[in-house]
Amino acid sequence: VFGPMTPGSQRSVAIVGAGFAGLACARSLQASAELTVTLIDQHPYQLFAPLLYQVATGGLPEDDIAYPVRAAIPGINFVRGEVTKVNPGAGTLRLASGVEIPWDDLVLATGSIGNSFNIPGVDDHALQMKNLQQARAIKHRLLGTYERVHVGEQPKEDLGVVVVGGGPTGVEVAGAVAELQKQMTHEFPSIAGYAHVTLVEAGPRLLPSFSPKSSDRARQALEKLGVEVILDAAVDRMYPTDVHLKNGRVLPAGTTIWAAGVAAETRWTVLGDSDRLNRLVVDECLRLQDNVWVIGDMAHVEAADGRPLPMVASVALQQGKYVAKAIMSASPPEPFRYKDKGQMATVGRRLAVVELPNGFRLHGTLAWLSWLALHVAYLAGGRNRVSVIADWVWNYIAWGSGARRTIIE
Ligand SMILES: Cc1cc2nc3c(=O)[nH]c(=O)nc-3n(C[C@H](O)[C@H](O)[C@H](O)COP(=O)(O)OP(=O)(O)OC[C@H]3O[C@@H](n4cnc5c(N)ncnc54)[C@H](O)[C@@H]3O)c2cc1C
Repeated sequence: VFGPMTPGSQRSVAIVGAGFAGLACARSLQASAELTVTLIDQHPYQLFAPLLYQVATGGLPEDDIAYPVRAAIPGINFVRGEVTKVNPGAGTLRLASGVEIPWDDLVLATGSIGNSFNIPGVDDHALQMKNLQQARAIKHRLLGTYERVHVGEQPKEDLGVVVVGGGPTGVEVAGAVAELQKQMTHEFPSIAGYAHVTLVEAGPRLLPSFSPKSSDRARQALEKLGVEVILDAAVDRMYPTDVHLKNGRVLPAGTTIWAAGVAAETRWTVLGDSDRLNRLVVDECLRLQDNVWVIGDMAHVEAADGRPLPMVASVALQQGKYVAKAIMSASPPEPFRYKDKGQMATVGRRLAVVELPNGFRLHGTLAWLSWLALHVAYLAGGRNRVSVIADWVWNYIAWGSGARRTIIE
């Protein structure tokens, strides 16, 4: 048994997952002298997923969007390891290494993974974009395809890219791939003309959680970048270099990026009731039972209108802070209330759509500048902020003429 550094009979809190939710919770709990906090994650860094698409398309280096947990919360008792089992009855959890960690309070915040909805071929042939390894794989595929087509190892059709899913992630990555393809005309002038990107969405419009006007603006901006947008088209099945739609159309693609949905991992559903996305259903105080809390993407929490809260960073951050306060409080907690901060998405390097809960909407360059400012503000660590700003300024000036950061092995 791995003993948390517990002097005397201090209450111990174990937090599984150092993402948006877990890190916010740990940061708030760290202030308490009465608790011993152990934070566990399979990776030693917090990943800033909203900018993953820029790593996948060569716009930012990996360590710009990954911040070491031990540096984010100095003095935190951080354990690197994959949690494979939780035993609420015994008050313990187990790591893949076999190490056991006891706890008095447990906070589960393991996030979500890509969801292929059991569509044939998706798991085998589409690239997901949920973690750094997957973003790296997309970048290798996109850039490696140019090299292989250039020397005749692959056919020119393989320069086609299909992005599936018209939510913010799909829109952002499709725009960034289109910009990458434009840039590659300087590096591979003889073959770059064969590259194109298609964005496929099953519903009638892009960005379904935004207003129809924002959806239209996003579609127009993507089309201006050269992206073919196909709406009302669900994917039927996938093969290594083809995406078959239910309407019978076949899209050739050397790279298919899956941005059509996420779900929590099935391994946690043994702990309680879960919804169709494997999220654990918790009470209004985010508890599975008295001393077990579930937060972030893996929690099913209903908003006032009865619909589950969205799987977004601001929900995770607010839930992390709320649970820390509830654990530190001597009295029973008030129910969790989500404060909607609005939503935003960006298309390429000039346009964004921003919508606030009070109905205020912003489109275009000003929206894009607020998108930039907010993302920099939410990045962990001063060094990463400076580095991202430097990269963006450079990219903005150089793309179109200069070389991108395209090193791959
Ligand atoms: C490409 C992409 C773009 C996004 N863009 C936006 C955006 O623009 N705005 C927005 O609000 N939201 C965005 N999101 C959603 C947002 O990232 C999530 O809602 C948020 O990360 C959820 O926080 P979380 O703490 O629940 O999970 P995460 O931040 O995913 O953290 C979960 C942590 O748990 C760890 N973990 C998982 N399983 C285990 C295990 N068994 N043992 C140990 N550790 C484990 C993981 O390593 C990870 O560090 C985006 C997501 C993606 C993938």
